[in-house]
Amino acid sequence: MTINADPQELAKFGELAHRWWDPESDFKPLHQINPLRLAWIQQLSPLAGKRVVDVGCGGGILSDSMARAGAQVLGIDLSTKPLRVAELHAMEAGTEGVEYREVAVEALAAEQPGSFDVVTCMEMLEHVPDPASVVRACATLVKPGGWVFLSTLNRNAKAFLLAIVGAEYVMNMLPKGTHEYARFLKPSELAQFCRDAGLDLQASRGLTYNPVTQRYSLGSDTDVNYLMACRRPG
Ligand code: SAH
Repeated sequence: MTINADPQELAKFGELAHRWWDPESDFKPLHQINPLRLAWIQQLSPLAGKRVVDVGCGGGILSDSMARAGAQVLGIDLSTKPLRVAELHAMEAGTEGVEYREVAVEALAAEQPGSFDVVTCMEMLEHVPDPASVVRACATLVKPGGWVFLSTLNRNAKAFLLAIVGAEYVMNMLPKGTHEYARFLKPSELAQFCRDAGLDLQASRGLTYNPVTQRYSLGSDTDVNYLMACRRPG
């Protein structure tokens, strides 16, 4: 089986991993958006007591917060260092109910189909060669009636200007080369991947950044960064 991953992408995250939990590091945007996405997930599917898999978990910002909300969380990724950092953080912070594993989402789907109440896959699809395959695997992992939450970057001129030129070159919020425009996904494309995987689209939200207040908010503007919530039919 060929692995659906880009070694350069995995190496990039590995090199930055030691600063994953520094809220002023390159991962500042993930720290800033985390409370917003966590609240949205909780609103649609309260996490306490749920079995969750977090796909492309990196250093575990979302995984850790979902475990703290009472879920039993498995974080998976294919970059070794971020996973080590995630484990170390859980130990240091005393987070219970979270574990991490280096495994491809497609392999986990073959191993544990229909096992999770909630599947999350955030800010990861724009880094993989075949995002549709990841969505299919997420759909296989979730139980009938369960929820799949996805987020990624939209592909249009505004997203190019804000997510790449603005964030990487003007504001230095992200290292140059963090994102590759061609891998961004329009909401219509992601919705099609979900439907093709047998998931029903339930809701979507946009994430916007205000450079003046330096704050993110969740709303209806999906032009740049957006989240989608789907359900597997019961
Ligand atoms: N989901 C986390 C981290 C996002 S950073 C969050 O939102 O907080 C993107 C992560 O995707 C990195 O940790 C990177 O290693 C991971 N990734 C990239 N390609 C991957 C692949 N093919 N399989 C699993 N994880 C991958």
